[in-house]
Formats: sequence, C-alpha cells, structure tokens
Amino acid sequence: MESVSALKPDPVRPTAAAGATVPTPSPQLSDAVIELVNSGETQSWSAERVLEWGFEQFAPRIALSASFGSPEGMLLFDLMNRIEPSLSRVFTIDTGRLPQETYNLMDRVRDRYDVQIEIYFPEAPRVEAMVREHGLNLFYETVEKRRMCCGVRKVEPLGRALADLDAWISGLRAGQSETRSDVSAIEIDDLHGGIVKLNPLANWSRDDVNDYIERHAVPVNALHAKGYPSVGCASCSRAIEPGEDERAGRWWWESDDSRECGIHVAYEEQGSGI
Ligand code: SF4
Repeated sequence: MESVSALKPDPVRPTAAAGATVPTPSPQLSDAVIELVNSGETQSWSAERVLEWGFEQFAPRIALSASFGSPEGMLLFDLMNRIEPSLSRVFTIDTGRLPQETYNLMDRVRDRYDVQIEIYFPEAPRVEAMVREHGLNLFYETVEKRRMCCGVRKVEPLGRALADLDAWISGLRAGQSETRSDVSAIEIDDLHGGIVKLNPLANWSRDDVNDYIERHAVPVNALHAKGYPSVGCASCSRAIEPGEDERAGRWWWESDDSRECGIHVAYEEQGSGI
C-alpha cells in the first residue's frame, strides 16, 4: 500500500479507467485515519470490526458496492444489516447486459432487507455512440474494445456512485485470484479521489464465505449453482471447470493479464469486481 499522506484535499475526483472526472471534493481524512491505514494494523481485524469502524467514521457517506453476481457482496450486506440496518446502503451498476438471475436476486434482496438498492446506469448517449460505431458485441473483438465497453457501462457509472461517498465497501478477497493476493482490509482508494475503501473479507477463504452463506441462508445469484462463481454481464461470464481459478469464467477469451475492467484496478490492472 502506498503512503496516503499526499492524498488529502483534491478538488476533483478522477475516475480511473473511464477517464472521466467528477467535480466533488475529496474527503478530509483525519490524521488518525491515515495513520491507522498506513500501520497495517487493520489486517488482523474481523470483518465486523472493519464494518463497524467504517460506519463510525463515515456513515451515512459509506455504501457497499455489490454486483449481485458474487456471494461476497451478499454476505457483506447481510453482515451490515446485522450491525446496523439503518446505515446499510448498497449500490450497484446495471450495465444493461446483466442476466435475468441477477435482476431476480436484486428483487429478493430488496424484499428481504426492505432496502432501496441504489442502481446506477451507464449514460445512454455514450452507449448509443459506442454500439453504433463498434457493434453490440464489440468486447469479443479486441482487449481495447472490451475495456472501452467496461469503461462506458461500468467504470463511468461507478465514478458517479463514488462521487457522493467518503468510503465504499467491496467483497474483494485475497484468495480470489493472483491479482487480488495483496488486497488490504482498509485502504485509501487513489483511483477514486482518495476516499477510503474497505475490503472486510480480505482474509476470508471461499469456504469461509460458503459457510456464512449457508448458516444465515443469505440469498445469492442462482447461477452460482450452475457453475458460475462470479456473474457479471451475461455476454462476458461463463461457468468454470473444477480446478479453474475463480475468475476464469470472466472474459475467458482474453489472456490472464488483460482480464480486468477498472472497478478494482489497483489489484487487477483494468479490473472488475462488478
Ligand atoms: Fe461490456 Fe462485457 Fe464489460 Fe459488461 S463485462 S461492460 S458487456 S465488456
């Protein structure tokens, strides 16, 4: 993790891969927060403690980013609600290419937790211009076009979602892939204007996640039962074979080092957890 001492006030929050900028001030992080993050002490904190700390420091300007396509996000939302339902915010990005199972899960979560999911959409004029010039299935053609599509459909809306937050919560785990192996429980998100990013499950294993999901009957995406550990856009997700990396079902036609899109880019060179 880089030192965060240089991350205080920046008049414009840059949004990573989309190249867009969002004109909102960065949060004024206290010296105590910066010191804590730099100390590495939080690596040993439980997921509950990370979330409680996040609520204390940032509520109501803190929210979970969930794709509704991975069990980790659903686990975290359940945990947040056990800690304090009134502070539990969740946002997602509807890229326009999601499978029906993901929409079904959003409605189940909405009903179960009695929550309004904050849904962000890509900007219609940008999507229209992109598909008019490059076609609807441009992402299969080149890495550049796939990243362009992720930039328009995911990264730009993510920038808008984060512009109103001082901290966000993600379900990243170190064990998900090699590119996520050094994920920290609490870090400063340089890519989104120096806000705080919480990864409460950084040290959890896949078995830990499954145990929790089962024990608490947490609703998850129906495609997991069909071999999809991670569900993104329908066109860019597939089931994996036994023994394959958990992320192998995303952008499977690309080489390992290019399969990312910008959401968690620090770990994944142009990466995505959404
Ligand atoms: Fe486009 Fe595929 Fe990225 Fe979805 S995952 S935004 S369809 S390239």
